[in-house]
Amino acid sequence: MSSGTGARNALLAAPFIALIASLALFMLSIFYQDEEISNLLTVASIATLFTAWWLYFLGRRAYEKEKAAEEARGAVVTVLQCEKCGFREEREFKEGDYVFKKVGECAKCGGAWIISAIYARPLERKR
Ligand SMILES: [Zn+2]
Repeated sequence: MSSGTGARNALLAAPFIALIASLALFMLSIFYQDEEISNLLTVASIATLFTAWWLYFLGRRAYEKEKAAEEARGAVVTVLQCEKCGFREEREFKEGDYVFKKVGECAKCGGAWIISAIYARPLERKR
């Protein structure tokens, strides 16, 4: 979860940095006396601006993908159950979960805490 947030921040920061670089190049192009260099800087500024837009587009797409994956993850439920006393708990499905996998010890009796079922919950669409 936290690594996903970090990646999301990087996706937001990259186009912002490119935008600032574009503005800096544009400022430089105004102050440069040499016309050839000035033109070159203007072109570089426009190219960087397009890069910023492209990074923003890529970032948005990755963000939406991640959000959809998160929604799908939330829709799968793992049922944990104690072999000994039958104490039952449900939680969100995690990667690597499979039925009959031993995930620890029962908090109540110390028996084997296993995954007894994995099922999909119907998606609740919020849109
Ligand atoms: Zn138990």
